[in-house]
Amino acid sequence: MKIHEYQAKEILKKYGVPIQDGVVIESKSEGKEAVQRVADQFNTSQFVIKAQIHAGGRGKGGGVKFCSDAAKAVENIDKILGMQLITHQTTPEGQPVNKVMVAQAIDIAKEYYVAITLDRAVGKNVIMASTEGGVEIEEVAAHSPEKIIKVWVDGPVLHAYQARQLAFGLGFEGELFKQAVKLLTNLYRCYIETDASIAEINPLVVTEQGNLLALDGKFNFDDNAMYRHPEIKEMRDLNEEDPTEVEAGKFNLNYVKLEGNVGCMVNGAGLAMATMDIIKLQGGQPANFLDVGGGANVETVKNGFRIILSDPNVKAVLINIFGGIVRCDRVANGIIQAVSELGLSVPVVVRLEGTNAEIARELLSSSGVDIISAGSLEDAAEKVVSAATR
Ligand code: ADP
Ligand code: MG
Repeated sequence: MKIHEYQAKEILKKYGVPIQDGVVIESKSEGKEAVQRVADQFNTSQFVIKAQIHAGGRGKGGGVKFCSDAAKAVENIDKILGMQLITHQTTPEGQPVNKVMVAQAIDIAKEYYVAITLDRAVGKNVIMASTEGGVEIEEVAAHSPEKIIKVWVDGPVLHAYQARQLAFGLGFEGELFKQAVKLLTNLYRCYIETDASIAEINPLVVTEQGNLLALDGKFNFDDNAMYRHPEIKEMRDLNEEDPTEVEAGKFNLNYVKLEGNVGCMVNGAGLAMATMDIIKLQGGQPANFLDVGGGANVETVKNGFRIILSDPNVKAVLINIFGGIVRCDRVANGIIQAVSELGLSVPVVVRLEGTNAEIARELLSSSGVDIISAGSLEDAAEKVVSAATR
């Protein structure tokens, strides 16, 4: 689960990480008052207006604007609220901006980068830090990875020597060194205690006044741990998520939308991956990943079907079910019901194997639904790809 910058900053603040706060608004009519509030609270006459969307790269995409006075700030609020913001992390159509943050413009002496995530290969958390923070960090990672310092941490506590190693590596001295050690220790505790999978501050800045300040914040959380964090779970913003994926989640379906035109309904993540592979091997492109789960029944099949067909790119559907725990006859009944309720706008290839597969085939053929049945997985992939390209 992802959250917005302003929410990330709320969390960081609770953990004693110094953040650059602001006022968040959702409508243009609140613009003037919000700018005034920031002017009063921070005693400033220069502002930054920041689009709040989950995708990164807002700065480069035109979603972060410096404003040299209050009138320009109000103007930029009007421009950014409601715009479709396109960044390297959004879809090509961009993401609508429903919220903006009005913040004080900070005099930045230098921008740094700090992030914590799990290094799966090592089985430890890794803290990455760089003196080359800001909007070009991806370039740094790609072309001069030696400029990113890494420290691996085993367990829930960042040891003092490791925090010092990082602060030293970033070139901090004196008062800033102390601030950095404290910030890193708090950030690590925050990452652990919130069950985050990513905690990132980019940029972490040194201000002209000589203080460390988080100007941006980004978190990803482990969905499976969110039951332990109701206050974080509440931060979820469904507007930022793919509507079909949200819909699928309601029915416990694991659905990920992809670019192709062959819809897939499969039980089990492994089989779903293999099915996508074999579709590609046959020259096709999967339109989605959909795992209906081990306990697929008539309802799950029906909902899965409806979700796949709601994607206008889908030109053919492959239903590939291996009946282990799930019984093929139940799946067949689901298909028959789904087709009779929803109709068939595209060709559907069905491959059912395993428990009660024979009964399932009889059900399907006697029902008269217009499906293409397939034997082997290869046969199924061939048939669905040719149906999609016809
Ligand atoms: P994103 O990472 O989505 O591009 P950021 O919040 O990191 O968005 O902002 C992008 C850049 O804008 C930062 O690297 C920083 O240089 C500048 N910036 C952001 N907030 C402020 C601020 N309050 N004052 C001055 N500059 C800012
Ligand atoms: Mg940033």
